[in-house]
Amino acid sequence: MIPLTPQAIQNSRDDDPAWRAAMRSAIRDPRELLDLLDLPHELIAGAEAPLRAFPLLVPRGYAARMRRADASDPLLRQVLPLAKEAASVPGFVTDPVGDGPALAGPGLLHKYHGRALLITTGACAVHCRYCFRRHYPYAEASASRGHWNTVLETLRAQPEIDEIILSGGDPLMLDDEKLAALVAALESLPQLRRLRLHTRLPVVLPERVDAGLLTWLRRSRLRIVCVIHANHANELDDSVATALDRLRGVGVTLLNQSVLLRGVNDDADALEALSRRLFECGVLPYYLHLLDAVAGAAHFDTPEARATAIVRALRARLPGYLVPRLVREEAGHDAKTEIPLRA
Ligand SMILES: *Cc1c(COP(=O)(O)O)cnc(C)c1O
Ligand code: SF4
Repeated sequence: MIPLTPQAIQNSRDDDPAWRAAMRSAIRDPRELLDLLDLPHELIAGAEAPLRAFPLLVPRGYAARMRRADASDPLLRQVLPLAKEAASVPGFVTDPVGDGPALAGPGLLHKYHGRALLITTGACAVHCRYCFRRHYPYAEASASRGHWNTVLETLRAQPEIDEIILSGGDPLMLDDEKLAALVAALESLPQLRRLRLHTRLPVVLPERVDAGLLTWLRRSRLRIVCVIHANHANELDDSVATALDRLRGVGVTLLNQSVLLRGVNDDADALEALSRRLFECGVLPYYLHLLDAVAGAAHFDTPEARATAIVRALRARLPGYLVPRLVREEAGHDAKTEIPLRA
């Protein structure tokens, strides 16, 4: 991967930053990924249809953190398409969190009091096989630049909204010039106090945390919260730690959300190690999501009883601030649902 040296940052031109080059050279062919890892192509036999519907995408730096010759590597399992994704499983549907009905304007989701979520782009740096938006109609429902005025008007008419969440896809897949312009437009609404970024890029493409990004983050009058998305401690190597340090250096509050995934992090040891490593990187665990029942992801499902047992074990091992809240997203509810931990 491209190291995060000061030279790498200086050498990247504004109109073609180093992270864009890293994106262009990301792995898109699952056979190449398997070759790199010394794994047989049979692992993806029968996965043609899921692969066509939701292609493989893995930045090289992220692949470099996978163990060689280990088909059950927790990072590989998050990105490798499998034949079993094609199975139709009762209860697993295309819009499990009810985004469709909550669309309040182009790309604006207003489900929760005081917070509105803006779908900025459908693009991501990695394709996670468990993603609840793997079937989301981004082309019709993203807040592209032509729609910003409508979004601003919608927000102005609802002065109780004081936090805007940029989501996606991944908002940091947009260029800094575009993001800085969007944030400047949002700053013109006096009601807004906080800007939240929901992004997996500091984890899967730490090159993204470059001088261009830090410049507009530092400049904003809004308090900025960055909710990263890591599911396993192995994702957080030194390049990620450096990127997270940089974000903290410009005053960004860092939180993490994870998804509980069978075969990736569905045991107390893995999640304990994740919490400890997050804290070393200056990040507090925020949410641990039960899997959204999205078609194609049933093989990641973890029973609720197992989930609560794992979180109870975490509470016995970790300080309270390192235990994430176990939640489930439910269509039509006015907040995420916290799962009670009783035995
Ligand atoms: C999760 C989510 C939020 C943020 O919820 P918090 O509990 O504040 O983290 C806001 N809007 C939507 C649509 C969400 O899914
Ligand atoms: S980065 Fe987030 S939105 Fe993109 S595929 Fe992964 S989970 Fe889904």
